[in-house]
Formats: sequence, structure tokens, C-alpha cells
Amino acid sequence: MTEHVSAPSASERGAALATLLKLNDPPIIGLSATPDDPMRRHTTLRLGGPADLWCVPDDPGALSALLSRANEANVPVSFVGGGTNLLVRDGGIRGVVVNLRRINRVSQPQEESDPMLVAVEAGASTGRVLQFATSRAFGGVEFLAGVPGTVGGGLIMNAGTYLGEFTDVVIEVQSLNLRGEIIRRAHADCGFRYRDSNLPKDELIIGALLRLRPRSLEAIERDVAKLREHRRQREPMGVPNNGSTFKNPEGDYAGRLIEAAGLKGTRRGGAVVSDKHANWLIVDREVQPSCTSRDLIDLIEHVEGEVERAHGVRLRREVKILGED
Ligand SMILES: Cc1cc2nc3c(=O)[nH]c(=O)nc-3n(C[C@H](O)[C@H](O)[C@H](O)COP(=O)(O)OP(=O)(O)OC[C@H]3O[C@@H](n4cnc5c(N)ncnc54)[C@H](O)[C@@H]3O)c2cc1C
Repeated sequence: MTEHVSAPSASERGAALATLLKLNDPPIIGLSATPDDPMRRHTTLRLGGPADLWCVPDDPGALSALLSRANEANVPVSFVGGGTNLLVRDGGIRGVVVNLRRINRVSQPQEESDPMLVAVEAGASTGRVLQFATSRAFGGVEFLAGVPGTVGGGLIMNAGTYLGEFTDVVIEVQSLNLRGEIIRRAHADCGFRYRDSNLPKDELIIGALLRLRPRSLEAIERDVAKLREHRRQREPMGVPNNGSTFKNPEGDYAGRLIEAAGLKGTRRGGAVVSDKHANWLIVDREVQPSCTSRDLIDLIEHVEGEVERAHGVRLRREVKILGED
């Protein structure tokens, strides 16, 4: 079921926007803040209305200042990483949307005696983490091959593939609450499970400590190449998407259930169930140049209803839906 968030009236929206613009006055040093920034620019589905204020801090200082001003002004704050698992509704996202792509270091902490520890900042891309590990012959993150996005989103989602998932390598996760306090959570307190975690929705993940293991470069490269080839054969390429739309139910595959319900190729406007992989609900601009988030949400709801009717299984969504209609 899609939960509906009602849009504010024009005067409420005007007042909220005025508060937001005051938020960066005087300007926070090291913060890039763009009002009314279309979220289609920041999501791999290329869909979604505007973020009221899209904010990219250069460093932790700018980030803390932003969060404390937003907290004082009682402005809602949302977090977006690579936007690779996000469907933003057509009305966009109210308040501040924080993106950490410039806070993206990957390093070996000098103060730690364990040489296999790697510190990753939340804005680092998963590709960068894999590259860092491979260049040092550190194994453990081969599972990231072909998984787009950032460390922050990957931790929230416990992203992974048949080679593993974040939970296998995380020692600690660091986050910031809206009062600007840093919280360190040991692995056991993160509640990682299949494509999900208990990391609180109102905290911004700022980094993590991973423990990798020595492995031959040859073995790492073999696994990575095999995973990439596996993906190339099965996944639709070159169309806006966010990977799997639904989680696999216990002991089965969402794609198998959707295909067996005869839904491959089903359309709602410009949104379509991929012919190549039925668990990928994609945007097809060739057949229909305009596609809205509403089209995709309608398609998701249709697929959920039909799969339940055909198999008695309620699919759970992997895609995160943000914003208002
Ligand atoms: C082509 C393609 C292939 C994919 N293949 C896979 C796959 O094999 N395995 C897999 O698991 N996933 C896959 N995905 C889905 C997606 O890549 C992962 O879920 C990824 O980890 C999301 O990371 P992100 O940074 O893009 O997060 P986003 O999509 O930006 O956000 C996801 C969630 O995390 C939250 N979030 C993001 N950053 C932060 C932060 N710093 N602090 C707090 N909350 C935050 C957001 O609010 C949202 O709730 C695929 C997606 C695509 C487009």
C-alpha cells in the first residue's frame, strides 16, 4: 500500500520556502544549497518533483551547521545518497534534502593497529570502496560489483548480492542525529537483515568502519568479473531504473512470481515491467517520452495486487518512496 502525503496549500508552501531560504542566510561556508532542485537530477529513475532545498556540504562543519539551523527552524530534513533506490513522488520533497557526495573519503585509519580496517565516509561511492580494496588486495567487498550508490544508502539498505552484503564487513556505523550529536553503533546494534537495517530514519549516516581480509588480487578480480557478467546477462541496461523493485520473499524470487503472473511487459504510462528481468520496473521513454512517478507507483501497486491474486504472496518493496504527490 502506498501511503499518501497531502500537499500543502500555496500559502503554507510560500511560508515554508521563506523559512528555508533564511536557513542559509548568512550563508554557511562550505555548503552548496539549491532551492527547488528537481529530484529527477538526483535519482537513477530520473523521476520526481523538486527538493525544496537540495544541500551538499563540503565538510562535517558545514553539515553540522546546516542540521542545527534546520533543527532550530523546525524544518524537515531528508537524506539522499546516490538516489539509486529512490522513487520520489511528483510533488517533490519538502524541507532540506542532504546529500553527502562531497564527504567521501576512503582510508586506512592510522590510529588502528588492525591493518585490515578501512574507514569509509558515507558519501563515498560503492565503486570507490571496491576500487580501494582491490588496489590493496583486500577481499570482502567484491559483492559491491555493479551495485551503484553510496556507502550511506548501502548501509541503510544492507545492500548486497550473492557474494555478500554490507553486514558481512561492517564493524561500526557512525551517524549524526538532528541535534548534531555523533552516535557510534557497533555492528550488533545496527539490526542488519536482508535489504534492511534498524539504523534510525532520523539520523544521518556519516561513515563506517569495515574489516576486510587479505585475498589474492586474482581471486578478487575473478569474482568481480563473474558477478559483472552474471548481471550483464540478466539485467536491463541503458534505461532509467533502480534495480530490483521488490525484495525476494523467503525461499523464492520476486521476479519469478511476477513473471509467472504474466506481468512482463505490463505498462502504466511510461513505466513498464522489464521483459529482461520481471523484478525490474523501469522507465521506457522510447515508447512514452513522458513518465511520472505516479505511473511507476500505479505499476507497483498493480504488480503487488496481481502477484497476491495469483500466488497469495504479498511482495515487500525494496524501493524507498519519498516525498508527496
Ligand atoms: C542498476 C542498479 C542495480 C542495483 N543492484 C543492486 C544490487 O545488486 N543489490 C542491492 O542491494 N541493491 C541494488 N540496487 C539498489 C541500490 O543501488 C542500493 O539499494 C544502494 O545501496 C542504495 O544506495 P544510495 O546511496 O543510492 O541510496 P539512496 O537510493 O539515495 O537512498 C536509499 C535509502 O537510504 C537513505 N539514505 C541514503 N544515504 C543516507 C545517509 N547518509 N544517511 C541516512 N540515510 C541515508 C535514503 O533516505 C533512502 O531511504 C541497484 C540499483 C540500480 C540502479
